[in-house]
Amino acid sequence: MDDLTRPLHDRFGFSAFRPGQEQVIRAVLARRDTLAVMPTGQGKSLCYQLPATLLPGLTVVVSPLIALMQDQVEALRRRGIQAAAFHSGLSEHERDRVIQSLRLQQLKLLYLAPERMQHDAFLRLLKSCLVSLLVVDEAHCVSQWGHDFRPDYLKIGRLREELRTPPCLALTATATRRVQDDCCDRLRLHDPLRLVMGFRRRNLALSVRPCRSRAEKLSELVRLVDASPEGTIVVYCATRRAVEEAAGYLSQSRRHVGFYHAGLSDEERRLVHENFQRGAVRILLATNAFGMGIDKPDVRLVVHFDVPGSVEAYYQEAGRAGRDGRPASCVLLFHERDLGTQEYFIQQAATDGGGSERADRMRTLLQDMIAYVLGQSCRQLAILEYFNDDQELAEGRCGLCDRCLASSSTNHTVFRSGPQTSARALLETVSWCGGRFGVGRVVDIVRGSRSKELLSYGADRSPAYGSARTESKTAVTRTLRQLIDEGYLRVEGSEYPTIGLTKKGVDALAREESVTISSQSRMAHGQAEQSYTPQRPLQTAPIMDPVLFERLRRLRTELAAEEGVAPFVIFHDKTLRLIAHQKPSTRAALLEIPGIGETKVERFGRRVLEVVNGDG
Ligand code: ADP
Ligand code: ZN
Repeated sequence: MDDLTRPLHDRFGFSAFRPGQEQVIRAVLARRDTLAVMPTGQGKSLCYQLPATLLPGLTVVVSPLIALMQDQVEALRRRGIQAAAFHSGLSEHERDRVIQSLRLQQLKLLYLAPERMQHDAFLRLLKSCLVSLLVVDEAHCVSQWGHDFRPDYLKIGRLREELRTPPCLALTATATRRVQDDCCDRLRLHDPLRLVMGFRRRNLALSVRPCRSRAEKLSELVRLVDASPEGTIVVYCATRRAVEEAAGYLSQSRRHVGFYHAGLSDEERRLVHENFQRGAVRILLATNAFGMGIDKPDVRLVVHFDVPGSVEAYYQEAGRAGRDGRPASCVLLFHERDLGTQEYFIQQAATDGGGSERADRMRTLLQDMIAYVLGQSCRQLAILEYFNDDQELAEGRCGLCDRCLASSSTNHTVFRSGPQTSARALLETVSWCGGRFGVGRVVDIVRGSRSKELLSYGADRSPAYGSARTESKTAVTRTLRQLIDEGYLRVEGSEYPTIGLTKKGVDALAREESVTISSQSRMAHGQAEQSYTPQRPLQTAPIMDPVLFERLRRLRTELAAEEGVAPFVIFHDKTLRLIAHQKPSTRAALLEIPGIGETKVERFGRRVLEVVNGDG
């Protein structure tokens, strides 16, 4: 047994670390700031509880979940580790006891509710202790991009300074790249280790079914329910009305149907919950009000009757399927009218005091959701990419989702001998670049660019330099994107994204195998989009067209790749949103949009207009 397995075994009774734990613990013990994103149940607590027993002095854990603190403290005490919790729910006597044990330096761990941080006397006391580690649990609460922002969390940065900047470990179960960046900034993490992992769900078959009407959605729902005779089914709808409508429709011919939404009385909700838990309700229709605390292992099917507002929400809800590890399906029914409902929620949130910033953030989250719906690559990979779970990305496609199934039923093209750019040449080039460049430069090298800058890096000596000289930039870029989609390559960093090999890519190179890319998904982009011709949603005020916005974003990605710059250099989100809102159809109208000057119109105007006018 090594230095860490011994205490893991002796103190906690576990024989081995779960994935990620050891890496985080070693970083923490080496005093490195760390951000760890792991799904619920993966074992985040151990990542600080074990170090707390090995470090001198005190580990302070900021956590908003007072109810859970007490459990944790008791479990630690049973293991002979001195721990306490400090929050507003304590009696005076209990509070005194905590203060006393802090004074006597008896504690190894102190759980602290965020609202307790700013009490001066308490801060002074903490300052007099040796704090070796500051842990921020539920760290996404510090980000306005998260789904659970808490203003109190903004004070953690100051607390940390007051405590003479101990190393900081930030933990959360959900954080997109944006939220991760925000956590690092706001908690002032210094050169942090970022570890994101465990988001792949191998037993879930994810799919999206485009529907042309509400009636089509209802009949699709019936079909799905009938095809799933075993286990429990959960159907998520966006509104109470939709819940009741769909429940009414299903219960005409099926038994054991129940529904749940915030409009029911407490008593009614309790009853539904109970019936669901004990199996008397087999098919449950619910709004997102249903979920917290449900942990039914045998859910075989989760249907999203309406598109949810974010990928986080979607994956959290879909993820309730197949907790027992057996195969389960998650189907999202997509009718673009639903976007009107979401837009309504967004405007509602803005007028409910969230302001336009809140609305903007919600809109961005919704756009990511639409990108998922319209996406052409493996659904599981799309989710992993969304959460930046590089480790799991490297494992490649899921083979279960609608995209994987569609591509496996069509021919695969072996790129090595084909007329297109050799996938191998691209992998070799990326490997040669060693993480220095983004998509644009890699493409330039394969196409034999004579740019001074690239030549100064010795690009002409790279193994596949110029091997795609006869091909267009767009074609080569497309192949490269495909390699990213299929998990051979990955993009790193958000401001100046660079490109690197995944483990799958390294393996493919090492084995000298031919790299195959499905021909279907290579051409699929244009095809699929045509089935979603945007209609104006049911709103009186003109609103932004989210489908158009998504297309513009895609164009921006292309342009950015061609220019070898970051997307925001081409256009800001705000600008794209204005275009999607005003739909300028001529160059002159385009010039009216703030953020677009002569130069941009000159360079990109034609292609933007093609997209707006629907022929791009
Ligand atoms: P999270 O905070 O990520 O939701 P917890 O820290 O509550 O997860 O841990 C979930 C469960 O996993 C707990 O019951 C914990 O005891 C257990 N656990 C954690 N690490 C290990 C391990 N290395 N081996 C076995 N069980 C573990
Ligand atoms: Zn897949």
